Amino acid sequence: PGSPRVALVTGTSSGIGAAVVKTLCDLGHQVLAVDFNPAGETVAEASGAAFFQADLTDAEACRAAVGDAVKRFGHVDILVNNAGIQHVESIESFPEAKWRQIIDLMLTAPFLLTQAAWPYMREGQWGRIINIASVHAQVASPGKAAYISAKHGLIGLTKTAALEGGEHGITANALCPAYVRTPLVDNQIADQARMHGMGEQEVIEKVMLKNAAVKRLIDPSEVASLVAYLASDQAGAVTGSSWNIDLGWTAQ
Ligand code: NAD
Repeated sequence: PGSPRVALVTGTSSGIGAAVVKTLCDLGHQVLAVDFNPAGETVAEASGAAFFQADLTDAEACRAAVGDAVKRFGHVDILVNNAGIQHVESIESFPEAKWRQIIDLMLTAPFLLTQAAWPYMREGQWGRIINIASVHAQVASPGKAAYISAKHGLIGLTKTAALEGGEHGITANALCPAYVRTPLVDNQIADQARMHGMGEQEVIEKVMLKNAAVKRLIDPSEVASLVAYLASDQAGAVTGSSWNIDLGWTAQ
């Protein structure tokens, strides 16, 4: 247990973001959950978090989200950049608009949110920036050019924020999970099952867990536990690093 802090978490209406909100609320932090899906309000309230609706591909909306946290709670100490989407298509036909949407949401929004939250973290000489990257920030797979580029870029942003934040008590770290059981992955399982003419269980075992030493999907709460550690006072010496939660995928 550390002191209660103010946290802003993005992409909170389902999956990893919803689990992170719940974990941070359970630890006694004041949490603002930010999502473009209005259904996120009910999810946030169930955990005891406040909710702000924003499409984070819009720069003004990013700044407004931080503004809302400051208006409600006075400052921001913890920023969890989690909102993300996927689009699978080969480079040759990958739509430019999709590329831009993914880069805006998954690379530019984390930058703008970091920039907007920075003065409050600097003022308090304490900050935690936690970027939910992916195993696809470390290795590539075909068909995911925009996602993989955004996630690799997010590691660069994480390292830069760590270097600039050191003297202000601000740490920045990235998490790199392999497949987590969330709606984002459930949709991919269904698509791949259709594509390969396989059952869903077969897709999980033969396609998604092909490179995994531990043959199961990750639970969102397992990712949230690591976020809780990185957000703690205890983790003040940990910065600029990427944390693989990847079932052993990148061990080979
Ligand atoms: P999810 O689809 O369950 O949640 C994503 C959230 O982002 C949703 O609440 C959605 O409404 C929100 N969102 C989407 N577009 C938005 C926008 N324009 N503005 C604001 N919010 C928006 O997905 P998830 O699996 O929980 O993924 C969360 C993060 O974890 C993503 O960054 C994803 O890349 C990353 N990740 C997921 C996995 C996995 O296997 N599920 C693995 C590695 C990394």
